[in-house]
Parts: sequence; C-alpha cells; structure tokens
Amino acid sequence: MKRKKTVLVVVAHADDMEFMAAGTVARFVDELGYDVYEYILTDNSRGSYRLSREELIRVSAEEAVAAGHILGLREVRLEGYADGELDRVEPYVLRGQVMAVVREVKADIVMGWDPFAPYEDHPDHRAVAMATLEAAAFASNPLFYPEHAHGPQMVTEAYWFAKVPHNAGLFVDISTVMEKKVASLLAHDCQMVLTVDALAQEAAALGVTLPMLEGGDSDMHRQVIEMGIRDHCAKVGQAVGMAFAEQFRHEKLGMLDLLLGTSFIEPDFG
Ligand SMILES: [Zn+2]
Repeated sequence: MKRKKTVLVVVAHADDMEFMAAGTVARFVDELGYDVYEYILTDNSRGSYRLSREELIRVSAEEAVAAGHILGLREVRLEGYADGELDRVEPYVLRGQVMAVVREVKADIVMGWDPFAPYEDHPDHRAVAMATLEAAAFASNPLFYPEHAHGPQMVTEAYWFAKVPHNAGLFVDISTVMEKKVASLLAHDCQMVLTVDALAQEAAALGVTLPMLEGGDSDMHRQVIEMGIRDHCAKVGQAVGMAFAEQFRHEKLGMLDLLLGTSFIEPDFG
C-alpha cells in the first residue's frame, strides 16, 4: 500500500493546470486518493479579447473553482496578482508566499511550469516556475522564512510541465481520465473562447481560412478545444504506446537517492 501524499499545483493562470496536467491530477485523486491543492498566482485579468478586466477576474475565478470541483481538488486558491505582471513581485516575496502554502498544506509533491524549460515566452510562467522550485527546495529548512505560521515541510518530488518539454521523460497514461481532463478544461469557458479567438487572429494574420473557426456556432470554441486537446495528448502518447498521455520532467528534490545511490523515490505513474 502506497503512502498517501499531498500534491500542490502552483500555476500562474486559471487554466494552466488543466491544459498541462489535469489527467495526472485526476489519477492522483481518483486512483491514489491523494489530496491535491491548486494555488493560482494571478487574477487572469488579461485572458480575453472580449471581457473587461473586472469581468474576467470574477468569471475566471468561478470557472477555476468549477474545474477544481470536476477534478476533486481539496482547494483552489487564487492569490490575485495582476495577470502578466508577476515579474513585478520581488522573487524573495513570491518564493516566500509559495513556501508558506507548501508548508501549510504539507505538500509532498509540487507540480507546475518547468523552471528550466526552453522557449517559455510568458513572464508569469517563468516567475512562478522559479518561485515554486525554490520554495519546494528550501521549505524543509526552518531558518528560511521562520516567520511562517506553519513549520518546515520536506518536499520530495516535483512534476514539471512545459510547452516545449525538455528532459521530460515521464509519460503518464491518461487514457482512462481523458474525458475528465476535457471536462475540466471546458469548465474554463472564457479562457477557451480566448484560445479560439487567438487561433482565429493567427489564421487571419496568415491569410488562411479555417472552416472550423467559421460559422459562428456558439459552441464552436468547445469543439475546437476538445479536438485540439485530444489530438495533442494523443500525439504525446503516440511515442510511448499510450492512447493519451501527459509529459513531465520528474525531479527528486531530496538528496537521499543521490547520496546513497539507491532509489527511494519513484514517480507513482509511468
Ligand atoms: Zn498560463
């Protein structure tokens, strides 16, 4: 019987986790009974070509909670920093805030954007990624941020995801939970509209006509996203013989394995 673990997913935006890791999260919850918490650092207030920033803050928060409910998360916490401005926050402050949550929920595993993945263009992703790595690496040391309300916590594993994965050899089979991943992603309705608006803008810039983006069907964005995410996860899985997969760089954060030359820490899947 495996030890029950606690997972903290730390992301910049409301839909980051659902795009990159919702299938694996669903398996943590459904199969292993793990407690999974999500900590979203920004207010998502730049995620639309249609809504005002005020409307977006409200709607995206509601949608994040709904998506978390579908996945069975223990809590979805929004920190509320301005979207697109996370790099204005002092790294020391951001690291301390993430570490405080790591200690509060007693995270064994952190999951988030890979701090060392190449070609990441979003400053929020880069900022949250580095803060998460540093918070996880030093949360066990009582002399770091001794003012925190909760005591030190040893994080032993990290699951890093990236738009362009690098050294990411862990493939998690999400074939049995693909429907749940799609449902959690579609719960972020305003973000899916944005994604499809961005695709349409790109197509227009290139002067190409995509029939799937025409027609004005109010449900069109849902069909495009569902098709796109299924296609993407199928391509990721194809290389390793899985119908649908998510890909991670799995990192052991402690030094036990390194120093003793053994393997106490293995990923739960893959
Ligand atoms: Zn994002």
